Amino acid sequence: MPPRPRLGVAIARRAPTKLYPFERYFRGFEGVPPVRELFGTRARAVLRKLRVEFFSAPFGYMGTSDKDGHLLISTRHLAKGDRRTLYLDVVHELCHVRQFQRGKRLFYPKLSYVDAPSEIEAYGFTVREGRRIGMNDRELFEYLRVEWISETELRRLARRCRVAAPPRRRRR
Ligand SMILES: [Zn+2]
Repeated sequence: MPPRPRLGVAIARRAPTKLYPFERYFRGFEGVPPVRELFGTRARAVLRKLRVEFFSAPFGYMGTSDKDGHLLISTRHLAKGDRRTLYLDVVHELCHVRQFQRGKRLFYPKLSYVDAPSEIEAYGFTVREGRRIGMNDRELFEYLRVEWISETELRRLARRCRVAAPPRRRRR
């Protein structure tokens, strides 16, 4: 084999992440029923300590770090997502924050997104909150839809969260 050419570059492998206080962007969450349910009397303290990292990309919504439990939020989603969706997304992520605090796994790379126990719990919890704030099955079904899952996976997730799916559309 011929010797490979040297790349001649240097890469610093430790990148900083800029974190901001959650409460600078999201107020009042400590008082809403799902957050009380998740953290009880600790709700205030948990949110006060929570940090958020913003990312700018044409895809993605929100996530929770499995390294230290901080939130990751798309600046585009924060600017353009509708209020109710953002509210439910935060509730969903706070469910992951609690999973993280309890030492549970957040990511299951070998499973489909809709089969990951962490996601089933977080979506189940979020759907219950969606119903409490008045969403119907059609709205909840649409809330569950994300680009990276198939129609079949979407229906599986809906079934697991007890959301009635609309009849399958016929292909033409
Ligand atoms: Zn999730």
